[in-house]
Formats: sequence, structure tokens, C-alpha cells
Amino acid sequence: MVLYAEAMSMPSIWVFGDQLNRGIGALAEAQPATHRVLFIESAAKIGSRRWHVQRAHFIVASMRKFAAELRAEGFQVDYRFAPTMREGVEAHNNEFNPIEIVATEPNSFSSRQMLAGLGIRTVASNQFLCHPDDYRAFMGTRKSIKMEDFYRWQRKRLDVLMDGDEPIGGRWNFDEENRQPPPKTGHDRWPDPQRYELDQVDRDVLEAVSANCWGVPPIGQWATTRDGARERLTYFVDHLLPMFGEHEDAMLNTNWHLAHSLLSPYLNNGLLLPGEVVAAAHAAFNEGKVPLNSAEGFIRQVIGWREYIWNCYWQWMPEYAGMNALDANRNLPPMFTNASKTSMSCMKSVLEGTYERSYSHHIERLMVLGNFSLIAGINPQQLTSWMWNSYVDAAEWVMVPNVVGMSQYADGGMLATKPYASGGAYIDRMSNHCKGCVYDRKKRTGEDACPFTVLYWDFFLRHQERFVKNPRVARQVRAAQQLQDGDELQQVAAVMLKKLDQGKL
Ligand code: SF4
Repeated sequence: MVLYAEAMSMPSIWVFGDQLNRGIGALAEAQPATHRVLFIESAAKIGSRRWHVQRAHFIVASMRKFAAELRAEGFQVDYRFAPTMREGVEAHNNEFNPIEIVATEPNSFSSRQMLAGLGIRTVASNQFLCHPDDYRAFMGTRKSIKMEDFYRWQRKRLDVLMDGDEPIGGRWNFDEENRQPPPKTGHDRWPDPQRYELDQVDRDVLEAVSANCWGVPPIGQWATTRDGARERLTYFVDHLLPMFGEHEDAMLNTNWHLAHSLLSPYLNNGLLLPGEVVAAAHAAFNEGKVPLNSAEGFIRQVIGWREYIWNCYWQWMPEYAGMNALDANRNLPPMFTNASKTSMSCMKSVLEGTYERSYSHHIERLMVLGNFSLIAGINPQQLTSWMWNSYVDAAEWVMVPNVVGMSQYADGGMLATKPYASGGAYIDRMSNHCKGCVYDRKKRTGEDACPFTVLYWDFFLRHQERFVKNPRVARQVRAAQQLQDGDELQQVAAVMLKKLDQGKL
């Protein structure tokens, strides 16, 4: 009875579904004798969006399995099914009457607001290598920081790929080596991703979440335990990292994964921590197993881009999510929910891949889906929402800055110094999509004109006033202004956009 009374008076640690790691925040120092753990699987959260089934399954199965691991370690775990988070907390309080409920700083703005509203104490998160407080200190009185400056600062302060104060190899980046088009042959050179056998937990989760989901059900592509995630990290470092750099921006309809790490889902739900991922890559480089361009290209994504995006989110939310500087108000076209509604090979291939795997790699997201949405004037909030629903590694902090800022220029240039707009020539150079496409990437007028090429020029004509003053794209604007067939092109663009809305492009 005494033991029971002591257990009742414990504090509880509320763990969110994207904090699934024993080393994160409040859980790091917790012990079964001193803390109880609370998870809430909220029906409102699961039903809040029409998720890709692989994403919903990944999040929920990882959470249930992590809860089971903590139970096996001896923790008293209250894994609560509740209509809403708030009701879950109330029910937990009523049943356990904890001394207090404490949480690690959540990764979304709305969850932090919710915790503040509930009066729940939070402890600092160590889930990222650069906490927003450190970022603000680095920023000082500056209004903004460029990604490259942030990345170099991270390299120095974390002592990653450094030789004293200088970068190893004498250069900070190897983009030139790392932006090669895809090889003409040998598209099976990259080993297939690992898979695991789905278990009873997976089947139970699928039964619980599938009703409101879309997409192909999981086949064990995405690990749902820390052990599984660590296995994939080792596999990536041993087999793929050595060839990561060279073709990291290439796209192939014959190979969806190339040498991509496929580790972002685990970094984003906590099964892996960025420090251990960087340490593994760095160790392989130190041992001479990975060339510098590959090590640097990968590490740049983890300590550079990922952490920069995370800090931009905290710097600019909540207003940032609603920005629409280019007044892009076209509804998301039918092809985004049904890839058969387009004949464009590149869009069809990436959209079908999303349906099949809940994943596309960063260039497919930025330079195919994002680029097309930008030049077609699709509403950035609708695109953000679609990406958030669709991708296994999505989260608000990832999607808002990447879509609103990086890919749609909807923040008017706060994050990116130029709009990432390109025509069919870029896609043709970096992929094998154009070969066999019904459209001709060189044509900007006529029935078979490439929508990317037409809408690219149309975009710079529509926004010429704004972008002619931007030194990074002024040349493209002037070229658009000098097109002999500019009027005809704009008429073709108008017809194309109509077809796009009708699901006939
Ligand atoms: Fe895409 Fe145009 Fe190439 Fe077709 S021709 S695959 S639409 S870029």
C-alpha cells in the first residue's frame, strides 16, 4: 500500500509522438522509480487530416512500440486513448493525480500553446543540435541569417569536418561535385532499402488508422523502433553514404531512392538523434570509407539545412505559416490527389511515388512538385497542407519553412534569396523524365509545349516587376521580356492553367 501511494505521487512525463527517444529532454534523466510516462493517442489528432496511411501508421506504431519499450524498462506507462489531447490529460490527472505533468518542449507551435494553456511545465529540448535560444544568440542584432553562414557556424561550434578553424579539404562545400545529372546507365547501382516484417502492433495500428487514410499500405519500408532506425543508419553509412554526394540532386523514374539516407522520418520522430547520425557519418569519413564530397553533402543536410529550417520556423511563427507574398490562389489541382489526371511524366512519376511510398526525395519535392506549384500559382497553404498529409517525415516545422519559404517564395524572400523556378531544361538535365513524355521540354508554344517551360516564362512575365530588381533572377526576367512570342506564350499558359484545373494537363 505504501508503494502504491508513492507511485501515485510521482510526476508524469508527457511524451509526444515526435519525441520517441530515451535521451530527449525530460525523459533523459527519468527513472522507473521516480517518474511515470504518459502518451496520448488522440482521435482528434489522427482524424484531423487525411493522412497517407504509411505516415499515420509510422507515427502511431512508433509511439506504441516506444511505450512498450519503456514499460519493459520498468516504467509505469499510461498509454491513453482519448478523443482529444486535453481530455487525455484530464483523464490522466483524474486517475493518477501526479505531483505534476512535465513535458519536453514540443516541436510545434500549436502544441506549445496547448501546454501553456494547460499550465504544463516544459523542459528544454535537446532534440536538435541548435536550440532556438542558441540561434537567437548567434543572430544577435541581425534581422536574418543566411543558411551558409549558419552552416559554417554549426561546423565550427560542433567541430564537424574541421581542421582547426578551417574546413577539412579547404572548402566549405562540394556542390560542384554533388550536382551531377543521373548516370545514363547502371540505375540499379544503389542497393535497395531494408524492410522489416510487420508485426501484430503494426496490424492493430493499421486497423485503427486506415479508415480516413489514403495511399498504399506499409510494407515494412519505414522502421518503427529505435533498433530498426539504428540498423538503417548503419546500412546507409556502410552501403550508400560512400556514393551519396555525386548524384544527390538527380531524379530517376527507374530508381526512387538512389543513395538517399531515408533517415528523415526517424530524425523527425526522435527514433534517431542528429548527433548520432552525424557522428556515424563522420566516423566513416575518418576511417577513409567515405569521400569528403559525400560526407560534406550529407552532413550539410543534417546540421545545416535541417537545423536552419527548424530555427526559421521558431523565428517567424505563427504569422509565417499564412504568408502568400505572390498572391498565389490557385486551388491544388486534381493531379495531386489522383496522378492519372496528368500526362506530365515528371509530375506523374513523383505523385505516383508519393502514393506508393509516402516519400519523395528533396529535389523531387523542391524542383518538381514545388517548382510546378510556384510557376502555376498554386496556393502555398494548400501545398503545405498536402505535403504535411502526404510524407512520412512531415511535420509543421519542416513543411512550413520549406514550402512557404524555400519552394514557394510566399514569404517574399525572407528565407530564399530567389524563387526556385525552372523550366523543362532543368528537369531534362537532372532526370530521365522527359524522354518519352507527351510534352516536348524545348517547346513553349503548340499543343505539345512543356508545361514547365511555358509556365516558367509565364511566371517571370507575371511577376516581372518584383523580380527584375532581384539580382539573382533579373537575367531571367529580362530574357522573358525579350521573348518574341511572349504574347502567344501567355495565351498558351492560360489554356494550360485551365486544363490543369480540369485535371487534363
Ligand atoms: Fe516534365 Fe516537361 Fe519533361 Fe514532360 S517534357 S517530363 S512535362 S519537364
